[in-house]
Amino acid sequence: MIDCIFCKIISGEIPSQKIYEDDYVYAFNDINPTAPVHFLLIPKVHIDSVNELDDTNIHYVSKVFMAIAEITKKLGIADDGYRVVNNCNDDGGQTVHHIHFHIIGGKALGWPPYVERT
Ligand code: 5GP
Ligand code: ZN
Repeated sequence: MIDCIFCKIISGEIPSQKIYEDDYVYAFNDINPTAPVHFLLIPKVHIDSVNELDDTNIHYVSKVFMAIAEITKKLGIADDGYRVVNNCNDDGGQTVHHIHFHIIGGKALGWPPYVERT
């Protein structure tokens, strides 16, 4: 059994502010929001990162993006816009190794989004 906080959020073992769920994906507010809207979309199966995507699990990513389209419309941020972010492994700044997509919005975001780590 993988000791993964996002798997525990899906199972309910760790509480979360759920904003969407279907058979494939789960969405919940980030515990440390960086914008007025900041939630995470995760597949309901454990996949470490983008590096582990293949023909057997790529359909979860389609489901993630379909859910993003639906949720952002419901939240009223779709037309103004938002950002989808995936951090991969150490240089990418990934801290939770269950693949996840940040949806960040509710304000005008700057670009580029990155700063060098100190
Ligand atoms: P990463 O840095 O891996 O791309 O993003 C992980 C995100 O998960 C961070 O934005 C962090 O605030 C969020 N996070 C970590 N632990 C928890 C938790 O227990 N609950 C919630 N809702 N978010 C979490
Ligand atoms: Zn997991």
